[in-house]
Amino acid sequence: MAEVKFCTKCGGSLPNDAKFCPGCGIATKKSYRPGVGYYLLVAVLLIGCIFAYGLMSYNTMTPQERAHFNAKDNAQACWDEYHDKVNDPRMSKQELGIIYGACKLLDERAKNR
Ligand SMILES: [Zn+2]
Repeated sequence: MAEVKFCTKCGGSLPNDAKFCPGCGIATKKSYRPGVGYYLLVAVLLIGCIFAYGLMSYNTMTPQERAHFNAKDNAQACWDEYHDKVNDPRMSKQELGIIYGACKLLDERAKNR
């Protein structure tokens, strides 16, 4: 059977997957943990910025320059960012892993053009 958990504030028993104590309403420890969703959001924002930057430069390019433009630039910008973050002690391994995954994705896109 599932283990019984107790509220850290009022000591009442908690349903196994409770986000809040039914007795006093305090958030259980589970909801304090930053979820994978947070890190995914960081990755999505990062990719969004890179694509927005790519699009902006694309709009100011001459037709010749546009012919040379490809997804490799986005992938390279991502790897540059990743190498910066690797040396940043505030970054967690999980965050770095997701940025690494995002760069891999951009690499794949570059190859498929
Ligand atoms: Zn409680």
